[in-house]
Amino acid sequence: TATYPALVYSKYGRPEDILRVSRLSLPPLAKSSVNVQFLAAPINPADINVLQGTYPVKPTFSDDIGGAVAGNEGVARVVAVGSDVHDLSVGDWVLPLASGSGTWRTHAQYSRDDLLQIDHDGVSPITAATVTVNPSTAYRMVRDFAPLKTGDVLLQNGANSGVGQAVIQLARAWGIRTVNIVRSRPNFGELKSELQELGADLVITEDEARRPEIAAAVKELGEGHMPSLALNCVGGKSATNMIRLLGHGGHVVTYGGMSREPLTLPTSAFIFKDLKAHGFWMTRWYNEHSTSERAAMLKDLFKMAREGKLKEPWHRVWKFSANGVKGDEGLQTLCREAVAEAGKGLTSRKQIFTF
Ligand code: NDP
Repeated sequence: TATYPALVYSKYGRPEDILRVSRLSLPPLAKSSVNVQFLAAPINPADINVLQGTYPVKPTFSDDIGGAVAGNEGVARVVAVGSDVHDLSVGDWVLPLASGSGTWRTHAQYSRDDLLQIDHDGVSPITAATVTVNPSTAYRMVRDFAPLKTGDVLLQNGANSGVGQAVIQLARAWGIRTVNIVRSRPNFGELKSELQELGADLVITEDEARRPEIAAAVKELGEGHMPSLALNCVGGKSATNMIRLLGHGGHVVTYGGMSREPLTLPTSAFIFKDLKAHGFWMTRWYNEHSTSERAAMLKDLFKMAREGKLKEPWHRVWKFSANGVKGDEGLQTLCREAVAEAGKGLTSRKQIFTF
């Protein structure tokens, strides 16, 4: 039987220490099963947390596999369908519906019901592989918390993250202006222009966010109104400073904790400005909403991608079959480098496996 490379782990730890290449075979094709070949799969911060053992959703380690296959998100092409599967054909593109199904592998077998077929016409593998986590999170957070209307302003930190890039583009497409906070860096000017090219209105550093002249610029951007929505990727002081720029009755939505610092909410904002604080988790949204609602959102996002309104996230590709990658040892080295790179800050790049 044929075997296929997969990135497997059997204990928690530093991703670059615990991931190993394992050769897995697929079970015989059952009536309702579908065999797929992955095209691309990103390394998201949550994947790193899963490997470190700090994510609330834990994998099932199985003896057959010798652990669990890493990776949560990805796009795959159908290569074989069971005799009862009539609504999928070889060549169709699919996304896994469940989280944590193990996408860092070339081939896998799913039950038909665990896959969502997508219309990939005019959509790149990179866009399809990354749509269910970053742009979907951006989509829900911009739409579901504050009633924004054309010309309103939203704030976000971690603005160069995958989510942040999608927030900028969706907001632009929906007529909402954005104030984008990033960590200071030597090439800040370059990052600022790249974010502006995506549609960012204001791009500022964490330090600038505290300055009175910035508060004035934010108000001017909102034509006299302070923002009513702040999207928090970072926590800590970054979030506190951002929240000070919110207007009366504003909403802060926390979805990431990149600084690993707790969130400190200004007391005065709660009492005098009626601040509303929320948490968002895409996984919870998926669990609480139907597959058709998910499909409708993805359809919308793919339409925007086709129209050039939602670009691929800035990324670097790690190709399983790249020239120079020799044997399982070579592949293991490549994969370990990729996860190590994904764990570094200040790269502004999503690390993505292609197969
Ligand atoms: P990316 O890997 O694309 O980007 C990571 C971002 O974090 C960059 O903006 C980076 O900026 C910033 N960052 C890294 N280290 C630090 C630090 N120490 N302090 C401040 N900022 C830092 O990430 P994603 O867009 O995929 O995810 C961003 C966050 O959102 C993660 O925490 C992730 O877990 C979370 N997330 C949550 C979801 C949910 O459902 N709640 C869904 C999707 C993502 P820099 O260039 O300055 O390093």
